Amino acid sequence: MVRSIRNRQKCVPRRGITTNSPIDGNKIKQNKIEQNQKKKTDVDQNQNVRLSHEDIAAWPKAELHSHLDGALRLGTMIDLARKQGKMDLLPADNVPDLGIELKKIDDAKDLAEFLAWFRYTIPLMQSTEALERVAYEMAIDYAADNVRYLEVRYGPVLHTEEGLSLPAVNNAVLDGLARAESETGIRTALIVCGLRDRYVSASLRQAELAVDFQHQGVVGFDLAGAEAGNPPKEHKSAFYHARNHLLNLTVHAGESWGPDSIHQALFYLGAQRIGHGITLGQDPELLRYVVDRQIPLEICPTSNVQTHVVESFETHPIKSLVDAGVAVTVNTDNMLFSRTNVTEELFRVHTRCGITAEQLREIALNGFRFAFQPYRDKQSLLRRAIADFPLPGSDLTPVC
Ligand SMILES: [Zn+2]
Repeated sequence: MVRSIRNRQKCVPRRGITTNSPIDGNKIKQNKIEQNQKKKTDVDQNQNVRLSHEDIAAWPKAELHSHLDGALRLGTMIDLARKQGKMDLLPADNVPDLGIELKKIDDAKDLAEFLAWFRYTIPLMQSTEALERVAYEMAIDYAADNVRYLEVRYGPVLHTEEGLSLPAVNNAVLDGLARAESETGIRTALIVCGLRDRYVSASLRQAELAVDFQHQGVVGFDLAGAEAGNPPKEHKSAFYHARNHLLNLTVHAGESWGPDSIHQALFYLGAQRIGHGITLGQDPELLRYVVDRQIPLEICPTSNVQTHVVESFETHPIKSLVDAGVAVTVNTDNMLFSRTNVTEELFRVHTRCGITAEQLREIALNGFRFAFQPYRDKQSLLRRAIADFPLPGSDLTPVC
């Protein structure tokens, strides 16, 4: 990861003042006035840069943790239900009322209750047409948020209830992502999830599917589902199969269960990234291990508040983890249920969790640094993101 002085010098000043503009005295003068005004409004009493939502929206971004079945548009849910004769499955028959009903997810008392809300999306995603459409629209929505690299994850077995084969399911999702790539230029990749609250044999079958598709768009394998009472190590045979075939691995761990779950994900399953991992700080020795090896966490702040694994944004441990040197990425988890996007998540941790502008820059770029992509491709994505990034590097910028 070469982020050298050269890169820092290349960074353009904030707010659209480019270094290659034609020489124009009035324009330069006006730009200086605007820049000074911006400094006044964007720097607080402690000289900390305060970013606006608009600032972050313009950043090049990556998403590493987003569930396909948690990213549907409200209008698409209504449309699919109507076309499939499944309106009785939904709690409302129009977009505004459905939006109101889905907000009740905020009252879910824990992760397990939160996951139950997928009963409104998964039954609508049982045909290749629906899967292709949902994947396509999801990637389009990310591209509109200036997300340049998107990793989508899902459990294919959940979409075989009406007779689709696992390969047909996976091909439909890949087709949708490819269509969005060709229209927008966003780069996408797919992660297949084993499900920890299902039989181990089902996880192994998902791992086999992931391996079958590893050179056709699938880049990794994950373990998702209700965490408490379903230890990661039970699924080690599935992860051994994926790892033995050189797939990348991430595991939901340390979300609604303590650091022991993270420990198992790392040492029984061989996880290279940890989904959430927000209980890591409870085990200082494990925290040091994760920092020393720069094992990234895929933190999803709004989701963590909704599932009540943290009380609020203000008490979320993300700031202490970043300060401790953990390689943190910020992600959405479920755009639909959390009513969010990557910009919104970054804005929330900046304004409510105490993450500084400098730290937020590195968090955003970590999405590229820790992508499940070949080394040279990842370097290319990262270089382009840094070159286009409006904030310069700082002492917090990694040096290797
Ligand atoms: Zn997740």
